Amino acid sequence: MTVPYWVAGKPVATGTTATVRHPYDGGEAGSHYVPSTSDIETAVQAAAEVADEFATVPAHVRAGALDHVSRVLGERSEEIAQLITAESGKPLKWARGEVGRAVSTFRWAAEEARRFSGELQRLDTDPGGTGRLALVRRVPRGPVLGITPFNFPLNLVAHKVAPAIAVGAPIVLKPAPATPLTALLLGEILAETGLPAGSWSILPIGNDETAELVKDPRLPVVSFTGSVPVGWSIRESVPRKHVALELGGNGAVLVCPDWTDLDFAAQRIATFGMYQAGQSCISVQRVYAHADVYEALRDKVLAQVAALRTGDPREDGVDVGPLINEAAAVRVSSWVSDAVAAGGTLLTGGGRSGAAVEPTVLADVPEDASVMAEEVFGPVVSLIRVSSADDGVARINASRFGLQAGVFTRDLPTAFDVSARLKVGGVLVGDVPSFRADQMPYGGVKDSGVGREGPAAAMADLTEERVTVLTGI
Ligand code: NAD
Repeated sequence: MTVPYWVAGKPVATGTTATVRHPYDGGEAGSHYVPSTSDIETAVQAAAEVADEFATVPAHVRAGALDHVSRVLGERSEEIAQLITAESGKPLKWARGEVGRAVSTFRWAAEEARRFSGELQRLDTDPGGTGRLALVRRVPRGPVLGITPFNFPLNLVAHKVAPAIAVGAPIVLKPAPATPLTALLLGEILAETGLPAGSWSILPIGNDETAELVKDPRLPVVSFTGSVPVGWSIRESVPRKHVALELGGNGAVLVCPDWTDLDFAAQRIATFGMYQAGQSCISVQRVYAHADVYEALRDKVLAQVAALRTGDPREDGVDVGPLINEAAAVRVSSWVSDAVAAGGTLLTGGGRSGAAVEPTVLADVPEDASVMAEEVFGPVVSLIRVSSADDGVARINASRFGLQAGVFTRDLPTAFDVSARLKVGGVLVGDVPSFRADQMPYGGVKDSGVGREGPAAAMADLTEERVTVLTGI
């Protein structure tokens, strides 16, 4: 069945169609109708026209709508997980996990919608303010253009849509071309909420049309999750707009000599270096292990990687599936070859079949090789021996990215010291960087982006302060 797109909360099933392919075998994952130029215009104009009305919809109504979405996502979780796997090639177990996270993202947004307020600020701290009080409200900056990547087809869409609804900002969502079907299914659930027409649209459109929307003054906020070059080029193209960027990284882990549970560290490194075939912005890419633990850790990582099951992501129990397409796999393979040519050692993996890359572990790769310096976005982990925590921190900070990092230590002063000095958006102590709780502030520094997501952080970002000064009180 060809599924509709959504214009101002209504399904549209006309015009040309596009087929979405399964990354594993190229079979059809589904198909959707493609928005016409006039539909895009209708969606944007409707968002602009409904903005004032939507901002005044009571919090209990917006929260109730978000709770509804959360509940129905949970009820339809298996169907949705299978769709995520079909279009993204993500193993079913990770797709199920993603649905569970989206349930939580919508639920958190509902809770935040209920408590989201402004503040009262006293102004009589200076003589000139005597008898005055400021009421500081947070009001939506305006309709939002949300742009999402392929690697979390549901939960990253949730992180755009849920905070926008929570603050009463209309949103036009543009899902990734490889994985639009899950977002379009979410439209079915949003349509049950009775939110005002125009408050949301889901448009599976091309990049050129999206670039035009980025410039459209009726959408003053752009919330983008995706790759570094596209994200920054969007921000540079609209310097006067409010643009939030959640971009890529080259996630690093520091393993300190006091960390004794190397089995746990190795299991986390192997799992989250390879999960989703490395296609997560916070997957483990660089492992800096102190010389005292390096060899033991390396052997345990290799044993854990050997135990991972590769294959058809639709089969239960498969750990590592394909990349999103063959071109991505070819790029990752060539980066592995380059790393070996530059003096790195291939410890395991390195092979490729179609869109699938074998889980790969490298050692002693020069820092300027692409598998170290760039975002691999593939199942490739590099192990590096360091002489001290300071050495590790310096190497991690030398990256142009700064999303999250992990540090394995049980020493509290080291944990505080390292997490204060690492130039990233978040540090995981006692774990790899790949953990994200959906309610926490999440985002990067340096090339990895600007702004924070997580319902509360995104709601603050989508709104601005409006002050009313009360006089004579
Ligand atoms: P991408 O940048 O190729 O595409 C992201 C979105 O932008 C897609 O919807 C795409 O169609 C659209 N797009 C592409 N060119 C555009 C243009 N010129 N104008 C407007 N829109 C355009 O990224 P991807 O390959 O889909 O996703 C992988 C990237 O996303 C990785 O770099 C990954 O690290 C990053 N990512 C970041 C986070 C985070 O929260 N920081 C989370 C997941 C993924």
